[in-house]
Amino acid sequence: MTNSLSDLPPQPEPKAAYLHVPFCHRRCPYCNFTVVADRQDWMERFIEAVTVELGGLNSPRPMNSVFIGGGTPTLLPRELLHRLLDSISRWLPMATVDGEWSIEANPNDISDELCELLRKSGVNRISLGGQSFQDTKLSMLGRDHRGEQLQEAIRIASQWFDEVSVDLIFGVPGEKLDDWRSDLACAIELPITHLSTYGLTYEKGARYWSQVQRGDIMAVSEEVELEMYMTAIKHLCEAGFEHYEVSNFSLPGSSCRHNETYWNGEPWYAFGPGAASFIDGVRRVNHRSTGTYLKRIEGGESPIAEEEILDWDTWTRERFVFGMRKRNGVHWEALVDVGKRETIETIQRQIQMHVQDEWLEWSDGHIRMTSKALPVSDGLWKDYL
Ligand code: SF4
Repeated sequence: MTNSLSDLPPQPEPKAAYLHVPFCHRRCPYCNFTVVADRQDWMERFIEAVTVELGGLNSPRPMNSVFIGGGTPTLLPRELLHRLLDSISRWLPMATVDGEWSIEANPNDISDELCELLRKSGVNRISLGGQSFQDTKLSMLGRDHRGEQLQEAIRIASQWFDEVSVDLIFGVPGEKLDDWRSDLACAIELPITHLSTYGLTYEKGARYWSQVQRGDIMAVSEEVELEMYMTAIKHLCEAGFEHYEVSNFSLPGSSCRHNETYWNGEPWYAFGPGAASFIDGVRRVNHRSTGTYLKRIEGGESPIAEEEILDWDTWTRERFVFGMRKRNGVHWEALVDVGKRETIETIQRQIQMHVQDEWLEWSDGHIRMTSKALPVSDGLWKDYL
């Protein structure tokens, strides 16, 4: 247990780690993540830099979960991917045999040979950036795979991994409710254990954002998007998936334990450009520019660009709000045990009002969202922050 900079109660050592691989073939029109397109020439430097950053741990740290995200980690040439996996195994070994080690993958990169390399290195969960099974929707999203390729990637991955997750996007310009139903039906038929479903958003910095501003493309209406979201909940739950977080569904026992770290307000390490860690109540974000990240580490400097020390009040509020994303909500007594007393009292008063308005409900010692609150949940949390 450690605590140095903030006034929080002693915090546990992180048991989760995120590592960001920033490379993509090209930037998708809706994406504003920390990625660089077509920079194969930086890949070796990146592996060396992130290995230096991992070495900053000084000693191996046993983890319950590691998540390699991106970007497109599977775009790395095999030899570099191998080196990355070796470094992670060395510095972030799994604490137990059932630790969760995930990697994000592009459906087009999936092959038996890649899956074998990942499995042999210890990766046991694969998360495919599928987005849709329909070619027109995939073209609209600027993706370089087709629906048939995604299906094949899922079949191959499921031969190697017990846990196969797929991301799906709804609310793409021009998409009809029936298109979304057919994506869901297709997913249900395939050997998928976890699904993340996201409504398309138009973020500043992404090409789609300016196209929507100019009127070149039309976002689907809020009503249609809401209907799509509720349709996903209905169809996936009927098919045996548990809706365990606002945007996430899993077969029983297949929830993403790594992401649960974030929603539970537990600490985690982070490595790579733009990656954000949360340790001892301090949030640190690495430089978002991959070029600057590389130069800083190569020059013997810290890659950290921002640092925010959370006080106990803010930490308590955030822990509540992040936890409320889970469908089973927040275990109230557990929050009371660690939260700041005055803040807990303020949260409790707000909860009472939201319970009266039927946005929140008590269930088995947990405070959770009602189904009525689900579609509007983002609007509720400003009252707690
Ligand atoms: S593949 Fe993913 S991370 Fe890369 S540009 Fe597209 S949406 Fe962004």
